[in-house]
Amino acid sequence: MLTIDDWEIRSVVNGSVRLDGGAMFGVVPRVLWQREAAADDQHRILLTTRTLLAIDRSSKRVILADTGCGTKWAPDKAERFAIEFDADAVPNALRAAGLGPEDVTDVVITHLHFDHNGGLTEWTDERGGATRLRYPTARHWIHSRHLDHAREPYLKDRASFLPEDFAALSDSDQLAIVEGDTPAPPGEGWAWFVSSGHTPCQLHPVFGSGGTKLIFIGDIVPTKAHLPPAWVMAYDVQPLTTITEKRAIYRRCLDEGLLLAFPHDPEVGGVEIGGTIDRPVISRVLPL
Ligand SMILES: [Zn+2]
Repeated sequence: MLTIDDWEIRSVVNGSVRLDGGAMFGVVPRVLWQREAAADDQHRILLTTRTLLAIDRSSKRVILADTGCGTKWAPDKAERFAIEFDADAVPNALRAAGLGPEDVTDVVITHLHFDHNGGLTEWTDERGGATRLRYPTARHWIHSRHLDHAREPYLKDRASFLPEDFAALSDSDQLAIVEGDTPAPPGEGWAWFVSSGHTPCQLHPVFGSGGTKLIFIGDIVPTKAHLPPAWVMAYDVQPLTTITEKRAIYRRCLDEGLLLAFPHDPEVGGVEIGGTIDRPVISRVLPL
């Protein structure tokens, strides 16, 4: 666990997925990326799916950022991506902190790609039927322009959005819409960063208000292997924007000590970086 101000922060592995290694590293040659991530016989690399859990006991805030792939998977689709989802992972992490799922006050939806937020909803009854929110009493934060995009994605990225993941959210009173490029902080001690290289208006929570801050970096930097600014995914809708956003974040890391929490790294929840903007190096693995 990492402590920042009043926040207790943990990175909870809720499952895993295997995605094509070439797609995960864009134009980077395989001879380079396979040193960082081994491909299986279907050319896929292993990625964990992580929920960032942040607890502030003084203000009674219990925040989950991203919810994993969820349970609504037909066997053939699950097999294509080797999807594993542990529905008990987050409840167990909450229990270890003396809390339960009913104590979750906020769910942050970085973006609606299925590997990040398929776990927002579950089937109420039979497979393929109606869905409901898994954390029905929590406020669900999402950027308005991202929700609009998820409803009408590009041809390029529409396979990443599954309408059943967020239909129940659209109908819910628990929807908390974030607007603009520099949104106002949602509460005391945390704030937003918005990026648009990977997908329009990805929403990143930043925890801490004093000397130390941590950003859930989402799919700007999915794993530690993606730290080099030019190592961006072929999935990105605006790869040059991703590079600009990575460099801006690294500037803050080097100048202000901003810490990074990853959504997909198989080994570490997050890191502190040193080096330079264009050659960042890991100076510390965070106890997340
Ligand atoms: Zn994504």
